[in-house]
Amino acid sequence: MALIVQKFGGSSVANAERVKNVAKIVCDTYKEGNDVVVVVSAQGDTTDDLISEAKVINPKAPKRELDQLLAAGEQISISLLAMAIESLGYPVISLLGWQAGFNTNSVYGSARIKNIRPNRLQAELAKRNIVVVAGFQGINRYDDITTLGRGGSDTSAVAIAAALHADKCQIFTDVEGVYTADPRKVEGAKKLKEITYDEMLELATLGAQVLNNRSVEMAKKYSIKLEVLSSLNPIPGTIVKEVAKMEKMLIRGVTNDTDVALVSILGVQDNPGVAFKVFAKLSQKQINVDIILQSFGRNSTKDIVFSVSKENGPVAVELLKELDVLDGAEIVCDTSVAKVSIVGAGMESHPGTATKMFEALYDRGINIKMISTSEIKISVIIDADEAERAVSAVHSAFIPND
Ligand code: ASP
Ligand code: MG
Repeated sequence: MALIVQKFGGSSVANAERVKNVAKIVCDTYKEGNDVVVVVSAQGDTTDDLISEAKVINPKAPKRELDQLLAAGEQISISLLAMAIESLGYPVISLLGWQAGFNTNSVYGSARIKNIRPNRLQAELAKRNIVVVAGFQGINRYDDITTLGRGGSDTSAVAIAAALHADKCQIFTDVEGVYTADPRKVEGAKKLKEITYDEMLELATLGAQVLNNRSVEMAKKYSIKLEVLSSLNPIPGTIVKEVAKMEKMLIRGVTNDTDVALVSILGVQDNPGVAFKVFAKLSQKQINVDIILQSFGRNSTKDIVFSVSKENGPVAVELLKELDVLDGAEIVCDTSVAKVSIVGAGMESHPGTATKMFEALYDRGINIKMISTSEIKISVIIDADEAERAVSAVHSAFIPND
């Protein structure tokens, strides 16, 4: 007998038929003699719909009230799922975040879990109940409801798995696992059998939308074995763990991140402290900078170019115009760019990986504006128009098509 945490995303519980389908998966797991804790998200687009409704009433709705509202989405799905499980003849109880012991800090809208008091969960499991828990929510020290940020149910599931020392945590979704590229866009994209936490973290951060990145961080920290699989097709999914078999694969994934803007500061006087003042100004306003390039310009000036999110591009330009040290420099923002990346622990021990990527781009006549590398990732910034073509080219260079 094992303790298994199963998480179902919004699309897996979108309507009555899907809720019944989930109930069946849960009961089958229970029937085999396992203890089962289920974490669910709000049905379908419920969370988006609630946000839109709030905006109509008050575009600047207080964050506390927004959390109070959004938590209702998961309250609906847990009670419906519990009813479905009961109708199949199994013992079940649904619990809201606070009832399941989720204590968080007070950052409404993106609260962090401080701890889980497991007493209630353990007591229900001891009674042999299937426990259905509302994802994405908790309670703060003022006894107010908080939410964990969009996609937060993955984190709820991993946190419960850690608190209860579960044997595994299964994340059910509407795709069959983690792919080497978006299978809807890239021909030949393959489902991975296994992937390491670090690789998954890179892919999640780069926008592969299968797992929330905070949940991967937490799974790594507590060594929780994750399995990503489909709630509609009962076949093995992808396992996320510390060491993964390489399957003769140098890289695990190719991603296309379109949420990128390039800010260029051209013709700055070449004096000490310029870079410091530029990036201090941005960090004061919580603007996250990704890739940075500094180079020599003409007449003993220098150029600084960096990438930020699309939303932050114009904001960064306005902030930098306030800086005295940049007087006389030209500051511009380009939002028609994308970041294409390859991710894979295998590249660390394979010289020539970058060359192979650049060659694939060169063969298609795609120009690279910026490059950044880490031990398990190489990213290039290119024109947004060319991004999809670039992903396909790089994917076919690295992932054998069999
Ligand atoms: N319902 C929340 C959202 O849509 C949480 C989740 O789906 O994980 O963001
Ligand atoms: Mg959702």
